[in-house]
Amino acid sequence: MEVPLLDLKAQYATIKDEVLAAVSEVLESQRCVGGPKVNELEEKIAAISDCKFAVGVSSGTDAILNCLMSLDIGAGDEIITTPFTFFATVGCISRTGANPVFVDIDARTFNINPELIESAVTGKTKAIMPVHLYGQMADMDPIMEIANKHDLAVIEDAAQSITSTYKGRKAGSIGRAGCFSFFPSKNLGGIGDGGMIVTNDEQLYQRLFIMRNHGSKPKYYHRHIGGNFRLDPIQAAALLVKLPHLDQWSEARRRNAAYYDKKFSGTVVQTPYISPDCISIFNQYVIRVPRRDELMAHLRDNNVGCEVYYPIPAHLQECFSYLGYKEGDLPEAEQAAKEVLAIPIYSELTDEMKDYVADTILAFFG
Ligand SMILES: *Cc1c(COP(=O)(O)O)cnc(C)c1O
Repeated sequence: MEVPLLDLKAQYATIKDEVLAAVSEVLESQRCVGGPKVNELEEKIAAISDCKFAVGVSSGTDAILNCLMSLDIGAGDEIITTPFTFFATVGCISRTGANPVFVDIDARTFNINPELIESAVTGKTKAIMPVHLYGQMADMDPIMEIANKHDLAVIEDAAQSITSTYKGRKAGSIGRAGCFSFFPSKNLGGIGDGGMIVTNDEQLYQRLFIMRNHGSKPKYYHRHIGGNFRLDPIQAAALLVKLPHLDQWSEARRRNAAYYDKKFSGTVVQTPYISPDCISIFNQYVIRVPRRDELMAHLRDNNVGCEVYYPIPAHLQECFSYLGYKEGDLPEAEQAAKEVLAIPIYSELTDEMKDYVADTILAFFG
């Protein structure tokens, strides 16, 4: 048997005719930039995120970059974040000229450890950027408490966690803004790149909207330097077809997770810890194991897809050496990077496939 880490063709087969019709509608209209599909998607994503406003953008990366630029974050500022994330979180901070300041993770959830944040706050700190990793939100109450006390903006990197909840509140709705990605491997994935920012702050919304189009307002007058961060209407059209299925796809992922949890219980395989405060959308199902790299080779030999998210924590990336971090500075993140492994969790998996994945892993450990 062969079980890929993700099978986009399996999902596409279930919605192909609708996607083709929606894309064709955009092509026939020749509204190739902006237009009604983008507006409709923005309204719907704002609504499902319990937010008043949404701005469609070109990617999750540009969602983060636009947020930081719109909050006037730049040279000399410090942004507190997690080192255990996809590169974009930290890359965007650095691109504004600000310095990322890393705080170690909670070893159980892999998200930023709120207990370590306050001692990282300095006079230069402007914002905290928690990342809701693998589909589970960070522990937001203590994060918001520290942010409010020190007058810091909170930007949620919710790229992996659209519609997931913390104490019943939606990802992206707790901080000043939340950033989503429609990269094809996310729970709500486009047919290419795309992203969105949600917020309840009307002033920030206006600025994000202007910055998406080079900071132009009125047309050809620029008080601010923005970029071309626009969402492609073809992506919006495909995403509008997929959106009604999102909850059912995430529910199927949760069912698959529960299935694996049961198969691995009482074994050496550590299953994901989901806080009782959270409902995860399981963008990834990440186990923690000894001899991780050997297991990976074994899985690949047996045609089971798997991946390490992420093998090198941001503070040890070569491009961030100028920040002066060294090995041992953030031990939980460094240990996690050596032990985590994502296995197939996508909604179209059959019981037979899950059994094959789990049995192949358990066979490795004897
Ligand atoms: C996917 C992702 C991003 C970037 O999104 P793109 O759409 O690929 O630019 C940012 N942060 C995290 C945590 C992500 O998983």
